[in-house]
Amino acid sequence: MVNTQLIDQSLFDYLLSVPFREKFERGINKSGLIGDRAATIGRCWDWIKGKHPRGYGAISLTKNGFHIHLKTHRVSWIIYKRTIPDGLCVCHLCDNPSCVNPDHLFIGDQADNMRDKRLKGRAAKADSHGNSKLNWDLVNRIRSEYWSKNLSQKELAFKFGINRSTLYDIVNRRSWVEPARG
Ligand SMILES: [Zn+2]
Repeated sequence: MVNTQLIDQSLFDYLLSVPFREKFERGINKSGLIGDRAATIGRCWDWIKGKHPRGYGAISLTKNGFHIHLKTHRVSWIIYKRTIPDGLCVCHLCDNPSCVNPDHLFIGDQADNMRDKRLKGRAAKADSHGNSKLNWDLVNRIRSEYWSKNLSQKELAFKFGINRSTLYDIVNRRSWVEPARG
């Protein structure tokens, strides 16, 4: 087995080939539905074949004599959105680690990835909003992402695992108000 995260040019080209894409798409159930989230970001595409113990979908292939395992959400990003910048992660907007819907994925840094894992851990514990997990670092990120306007308020609240009224209070500084200086 080789490192699953290293994807060289020839493997990249193979992942974009029609036969591989067809094989990949046979492993997807596009009518996955996770609670009420389908209303905001669409249905999950559940990976229905092999799963990694942590819940990620896994796909194996043989390339140049090597048996390779790849995480299916990363493969999905490559097939539908192309490149994963060096050192960055593919994270889930939904809390469903086996989801490969490209619209539910985003490129994040290690902090996003850790948060992604925490969100999933928390989802597993069925903690409904987890607002108590907020800290200043998260609040500052939420505010900067809110002003960058890349995600809607719904998506942003979802990404950070908070409800929309909490998001509203944070971005309008009704909560988490910095102490006055001086
Ligand atoms: Zn999803």
